[in-house]
Amino acid sequence: MTYKESNSNKDKLQESLDNLYDIFKDISAHADELSKSRCPYKNAQNLCTATFYCKNQKYTEKHTEIPVCAGSHKLDYRPAWQVDKPIKKNEQL
Ligand code: SF4
Repeated sequence: MTYKESNSNKDKLQESLDNLYDIFKDISAHADELSKSRCPYKNAQNLCTATFYCKNQKYTEKHTEIPVCAGSHKLDYRPAWQVDKPIKKNEQL
């Protein structure tokens, strides 16, 4: 590989990295904004993936292994976290 070819490859690499940065910076900014109102432990099925206890965890007849998240997108979810306690089942189940 010649010096000129090497520099051309570096330029292409830098251009690709710049493109990737432009794509991911928007995704990252959107995720940052979303995380202010949606708990990062809530998955797409509204189930809780946290490994600690949270007051918003609710077990249902359909979801006996993984709790449903009963938190609201409109409220700050963080005060419900009790990271020093393990997950517990609903008292009524
Ligand atoms: S139950 Fe609590 S920790 Fe789990 S997803 Fe909902 S708000 Fe987050």
